[in-house]
Amino acid sequence: MLINGVLVPFVSGNVDIIYNPANQEPVAQVAVGTRQDARLALQAAKKAFPIWSATSSQERAKILHAAADLVRQRSEQITRLLTLEMGKPLNNAKMEILSSADVLDFYAEEGKRNFGEWISSSHSRSIVLRQPVGVAALITPWNFPVDLLAWKVGPCLAAGCTFVAKPPSKAPLAATEFVRAVSDAGLPAGAANVVHGPGSEVGAELVENPISRKIAFTGETQTGREIMAHAAAHIKRVSLELGGQSPFIVCADADLEAAAAAAAQRAFSNMGQICISVNRIYVAEEVAEPFTEELVLRAERLKIGDGMLPDVDLGPMFSRAQRQRTKEHVADAIEMGAELLTGGQEPEGEAYEKGYFFQPTVLGEADHSMRVMREETFGPVAPIMKFKTLEEAIALANDSEYGLAAYVFTNDLKTALRAAEELEAGGIGVNVNNVVDLQAPFGGWKESGLGRELGHYGLEAYLETKHIRLGM
Ligand code: NAD
Repeated sequence: MLINGVLVPFVSGNVDIIYNPANQEPVAQVAVGTRQDARLALQAAKKAFPIWSATSSQERAKILHAAADLVRQRSEQITRLLTLEMGKPLNNAKMEILSSADVLDFYAEEGKRNFGEWISSSHSRSIVLRQPVGVAALITPWNFPVDLLAWKVGPCLAAGCTFVAKPPSKAPLAATEFVRAVSDAGLPAGAANVVHGPGSEVGAELVENPISRKIAFTGETQTGREIMAHAAAHIKRVSLELGGQSPFIVCADADLEAAAAAAAQRAFSNMGQICISVNRIYVAEEVAEPFTEELVLRAERLKIGDGMLPDVDLGPMFSRAQRQRTKEHVADAIEMGAELLTGGQEPEGEAYEKGYFFQPTVLGEADHSMRVMREETFGPVAPIMKFKTLEEAIALANDSEYGLAAYVFTNDLKTALRAAEELEAGGIGVNVNNVVDLQAPFGGWKESGLGRELGHYGLEAYLETKHIRLGM
């Protein structure tokens, strides 16, 4: 763990073993923190806050750019750790680390654009300042443990806040090395801290302790709900990036090959363990057959294997529990009348025996009675349902408590705009399968979250507004 600029083992004396999900071999031994470690880290961040928040945005930018360079320099090592602890193929892990460095570069510059306002009234003048909120707790999940942390670390430091990060308990290695690189770039001791340990202890302390003024959390909706309730005790600022159940609409006039390629990539990459993964496909009935054929073909073409091997498209799932939930959703769908078109089980062979592998799965004849269409599977499953009219497709897409991302494929501008306006989600992909752009806001509607990350919105999440009124 990293507390007050020093790598520390633990207070409690507990350690945990991190296992490789591709073969269940041990990868590393990590310190397990307690509430006491979390308190020490919060105190260190509190001590560093007046120092860091007093630096100019230019100075902060220099350090953030240096941090981005250090992350790039150490990217080979961090990439390996990420694949070993989490399973994703090396090339995907590398992309994640390099994109995290880009996030730091972006916020280095964005921090310089934290401008105020000057307002003239008849008897007074008003100055509006945007000041850092204070110590932030950054709590992140295992599916993109470095990138999702970078989305918080970048704006947090650029705004002048200090932080304590709590990476996921079972995948803390790459995230810790990422924060270490950031810290090594010249931050004052205590500005960046990492504490490992269970969410119910370390995470809970970071949320409940009055030292933290801001909670930035990515994870399950249920955890977000609990965090929001606890943060209410001190009216803390919260940003919540939560679960998703993203619909993907294919209209009759869409480029079917492009739509199938996009759906396959977003449903199966990272083994479907992405919050904006394609979870439900609604396809116009007149093009359902060719679209489905193309999707099945693409699913069957994907190469599954240990993420450390070259040319692997899909690694193992993160855990036994994650795979079990996927199997249960597939079994439930088949029982409720879905047709298994491909996949649906573990791949066979010695290479797959010890890891949490699963075949990319396509289901036909899906409907909303099935769990896979309502709950977040977080697995490589693409269920397909046919629709007759656009109204029907939009109504089905919006029939969910989630609202993170939604996708529509069409070549008609009016259809695209209508769907984009009527779909209830924070990000709409029109003829693209990704709603993440570093310069644009990312976040969820409904029970998918609160607040926005990325772009200038990401910086605002770490700033408080102050009005200074001058009598004339
Ligand atoms: P999780 O909610 O179980 O855990 C996330 C983090 O919160 C972990 O570090 C965990 O230790 C910590 N935590 C758990 N209980 C806590 C508590 N009571 N107080 C404080 N911290 C606590 O989620 P997960 O299983 O690691 O990740 C998968 C989930 O994350 C999925 O639901 C997925 O959709 C969601 N997710 C959302 C986004 C997004 O941007 N919206 C991105 C990626 C993942």
